Amino acid sequence: MKQTGTIELTMLYDNTACGPGLEPDWGFSTLLKFSDRTLLFDTGGDPEVLVHNLKALKIDPTGIDSIFISHADWDHINGLPVVLRPGQKVYLLQAFPDKLKREVGSTGAELVEVSGWQELWPGVFTTGEMGDKKKEQALAVRTDNGLVIITGCAHPGIVQIVRRVKERLKEPIGLVLGGFHLYEMNKAQVKEIIAQLKSLGVARFAPCHCSGESAIRTFALELGQDFVEISAGSRLEV
Ligand SMILES: [Zn+2]
Ligand SMILES: [Zn+2]
Repeated sequence: MKQTGTIELTMLYDNTACGPGLEPDWGFSTLLKFSDRTLLFDTGGDPEVLVHNLKALKIDPTGIDSIFISHADWDHINGLPVVLRPGQKVYLLQAFPDKLKREVGSTGAELVEVSGWQELWPGVFTTGEMGDKKKEQALAVRTDNGLVIITGCAHPGIVQIVRRVKERLKEPIGLVLGGFHLYEMNKAQVKEIIAQLKSLGVARFAPCHCSGESAIRTFALELGQDFVEISAGSRLEV
């Protein structure tokens, strides 16, 4: 079955913040609302900042029914203890440290260990394990406006991640959002990555977190309207 619709996305945690009362901090977390589900993608680097921003955005964390962790870096997992609840589904890679799996299991949450490409529920996909050194997964969600791909830090490479999704689903890509990990790249390299992502059919781009300030500026300049500026507090409907 092909599930379509729109998703509502709220940025909870990012290196920059917009809106009153929101705290910026190094890390990434975003909340996705589908018709009948609320999924938290990563949890930021500091539980206090996560709780603070949830309150500022008037989001009740008990409504989170699933948590997806992209990779086991501290700036993506440290907020976990304050959002874990019994009965939640928590999607981790099999390759993540046992300590993290035990932490999830001990709360009564249901640990789902991912290895390869997988449809988690209709229209929602994980890339499965990617990367040589740091193991990371990314999420792809089917919407009426194309696929939305969300990345944590994109350590395996943002182009590689998008390419894997494209190879599997062969569908238009409406938006790629998250950490693109380009802060060590010069302008020419960033432009080359933009060109590659465009050739894979990405329509709009929302780099944040570890993408790097100068890389984000290059995306903004090169893409004009197709650049989506986001930070903690941003809300998007796709
Ligand atoms: Zn990372
Ligand atoms: Zn990160």
